[in-house]
Amino acid sequence: MPAPLTLVETDAGLPRSADAVVIGAGIVGVFTAYYLARRGLKVVLIEKGRVGAEQSSRNWGWCRQQNRDARELPMATKSLDLWDRFGAESGEDTGFRRCGLLYLSDSEEELAGWARWRDFARTVGVTTHMLDSAEASARGKATGRSWKGGVFSPTDGTADPANAAPAVARAIVKLAGAVIQNCAARGIETEGGRLSAVVTEHGTIRTATAILSGGAWASSFCRQLGIRFPQASIRSSILSVGPGEGELPDALHTARVSVTRRGDGGHTLAISGRGRVDLTPQNIRFAGQFLPMFMRRWRSLSPGGLEGLRSGHETLARWRLDRPTPMEQMRILDPAVDDGTIRLVHQRAIELLPAIGTRRITARWAGYIDSTPDGVPAIGEVANVPGFILAAGFSGHGFGIGPGAGHLIADIVTAAAEPIVDPVPYHPQRFESSSWGKVADF
Ligand SMILES: Cc1cc2nc3c(=O)[nH]c(=O)nc-3n(C[C@H](O)[C@H](O)[C@H](O)COP(=O)(O)OP(=O)(O)OC[C@H]3O[C@@H](n4cnc5c(N)ncnc54)[C@H](O)[C@@H]3O)c2cc1C
Repeated sequence: MPAPLTLVETDAGLPRSADAVVIGAGIVGVFTAYYLARRGLKVVLIEKGRVGAEQSSRNWGWCRQQNRDARELPMATKSLDLWDRFGAESGEDTGFRRCGLLYLSDSEEELAGWARWRDFARTVGVTTHMLDSAEASARGKATGRSWKGGVFSPTDGTADPANAAPAVARAIVKLAGAVIQNCAARGIETEGGRLSAVVTEHGTIRTATAILSGGAWASSFCRQLGIRFPQASIRSSILSVGPGEGELPDALHTARVSVTRRGDGGHTLAISGRGRVDLTPQNIRFAGQFLPMFMRRWRSLSPGGLEGLRSGHETLARWRLDRPTPMEQMRILDPAVDDGTIRLVHQRAIELLPAIGTRRITARWAGYIDSTPDGVPAIGEVANVPGFILAAGFSGHGFGIGPGAGHLIADIVTAAAEPIVDPVPYHPQRFESSSWGKVADF
């Protein structure tokens, strides 16, 4: 029972040249290719497995401004508009709806944190409503109990992880972009120090620009090019239940469990922040840089096993361009589910919303969430390889901000006079100047 995913049929032949090659067809890669194709560039999107099959179909689907770090909030706000607009301009359905997100709590400390964020959000024109006990209990009536307080963010929403990336891939094809599945990029070629081609398992594509939107694989790919990109991943396990009797909320977060309506009418159940840290050579290599992040999040994390070693995405090995690479041995990163977490999530969800107990479990899956040391994505051209743009480390927020990230990357590639958001906070160079970045506040 893997994460549900709509499969898309795409091109078979590999173009010989392109204005830009996008490596990795998760939500970031598809939106990047989409915005490049809309600007008339000849774009090729290559994916080692299936469009959307890794993190981008395994998430909850939240597209939120609520509780975002100040550095990421502008991109979150713009992304919500882009989600709205994408449906209208492409005729494709990502399942995006501004249903609002509801947070409920009995903890004074948690409520005080949300109130602090509300005060900050007001300064940048973002609306969110703190709820007193009566309002929180009314909005959370499906739980059948009273709450000390909460917060409701009416302009936020959710999209459908099973359909979003495939919908954008179809839109790229309509714009005459090429989408090639089962095709891993093995590396790049350079001429005079500049990127000149992307080497794939099926041949070479001449291009002056490549974007690496490879999710959890980005750091090991960068290592082949002599680029140090500190990245780590957490294995998170979640499940879904089918539609059924009783009213369930669209999107509800509590500290114990969170619940989100899916495009098929069922719900995804999960515990926010909970995950396992699997032992990998890469985790060990970057452990020092991730210490501040770990100190902040350690309560929800537990040691994993050797799962990450088997997956190969965090290898320190160097590979050759004329031989199969770890990416071809692991077409879809589909890590083992943590059964204990699944049982706990299900039990807590039933305690919170008894109607869930009457619904059939339809799927259970795990995903590696890739993160940077400061919890903010790395987006920007890498100084020592002109033409090579990194877009990874979305730190558990990349689905919601996928459209904004894709738009920003297209702005960078086309040297737009006014990029959609200030690119500076995202530039990967920040990891060189400070070994311990400021960890995202929320
Ligand atoms: C359980 C869970 C819950 C989450 N909940 C949310 C949420 O509610 N809201 C939110 O905003 N975010 C959420 N996230 C995070 C979000 O899913 C990710 O940040 C986002 O999907 C990252 O998108 P991406 O395109 O960077 O990476 P991915 O979706 O991982 O895509 C990367 C793609 O690149 C491909 N690839 C890698 N290397 C190569 C190569 N060399 N050649 C060709 N292809 C390659 C991979 O096969 C993969 O398909 C969650 C994540 C998980 C796992």
